[in-house]
Amino acid sequence: MIRVVLVGAAGRMGRAVEQAVAESSGFVIKARVDLAANRPAGDAGWTVDAAGVLGAGDVAVEFSDPSTCAALAALCAERGAGLVSGTTGLDPAQEEGVRAAARRVAVVRGANFSLGVAVLRRALKTALAALPAGWDVEIVERHHRLKADSPSGTALALAADAAASRGGEGGVPRFGRGQGRTGPRAAGEIGVHSVRGGSWVGDHAVLLAGEGEWLELRHVAQDRLAFAHGALAAARFVAGAAPGYYTLEDVLAAGSGPR
Ligand code: NAD
Repeated sequence: MIRVVLVGAAGRMGRAVEQAVAESSGFVIKARVDLAANRPAGDAGWTVDAAGVLGAGDVAVEFSDPSTCAALAALCAERGAGLVSGTTGLDPAQEEGVRAAARRVAVVRGANFSLGVAVLRRALKTALAALPAGWDVEIVERHHRLKADSPSGTALALAADAAASRGGEGGVPRFGRGQGRTGPRAAGEIGVHSVRGGSWVGDHAVLLAGEGEWLELRHVAQDRLAFAHGALAAARFVAGAAPGYYTLEDVLAAGSGPR
């Protein structure tokens, strides 16, 4: 049994992971960690402090906020616990903190744990390799009105993938088009646009536009269980992995992706 310490357990993703655990075998939730204000009243097995429960060999699964994520990574390294980390919007110092923890324990970190987005990223690389460099790349993401960061971590990852696929100078992300006489689109730009509203779980479209034709690669997450089952696949991987910084691609390459 893999002992999971679920951080951000009362949140949208925390509740989805809880459901995914109930639908899977091989996992037990050792503790649920969340702020006192958000945890369900009177429920046993909840705590506000991961430090009180996290032990060697446990796997922390976190979907919380950037500062909580960075502090948890340091705690995992200190205690000898693995980490599956999905929070987006970390600043460079916080990302570096997670990487430092990964020198001592196994960490799978990703902006998107869905199998479909992993395949979208591969498809984008294939498409860009087959198209002339002059085709424009525009990324449009849509999320629910409560999302805290913008653009989404997945949109940033897609923009970085597109830049890397282009090689050399790559491409320069442009966040939104501004307003007024913004002028023609610069060559090599990678447009990134965020839409917020309602209850969208996550929608990423990559538009590739040439002269007289365009194509769209698009992933729509309809249910957070898509991310949660990916996170559990990552937890299974982390439980048996050597210390290191891994991504969902490493989990898939090991043949232990979401089912
Ligand atoms: P949410 O606001 O619904 O949940 C976050 C939870 O973390 C809340 O319950 C909050 O109380 C809790 N929290 C905050 N500080 C805490 C602390 N110090 N200790 C314990 N718990 C704490 O948000 P969400 O929609 O579940 O998303 C959480 C994060 O996961 C966001 O950064 C989001 O972008 C990211 N996300 C990632 C993926 C992925 O596949 N990687 C998928 C969906 C969302």
